[in-house]
Amino acid sequence: MAVTRSDSTGFRWSGASRMLIHFNRRICAGHARCNERAPEVYGLDEMGYCRLQSAKVPAGLEEQARAGAENCPEGALTIVEE
Ligand code: SF4
Repeated sequence: MAVTRSDSTGFRWSGASRMLIHFNRRICAGHARCNERAPEVYGLDEMGYCRLQSAKVPAGLEEQARAGAENCPEGALTIVEE
């Protein structure tokens, strides 16, 4: 049974996948390409830099998370499967 809850960022998600995202803020260049492919996973700040909603990928958004990470030209997003 899926459990709906909020994490510390206030982001609400139902259940957890076994996928995590590592985001290297230092090399993020603000292309917003992650958000183009996966707006439900990768939020943006007012300057167009990635603002990760949650390091844990919500269940059902795994493919979107992968597509967004693969679309990052800087390699700032790494998918980690537990
Ligand atoms: S695509 Fe990569 S470099 Fe661009 S905003 Fe997203 S994480 Fe940052």
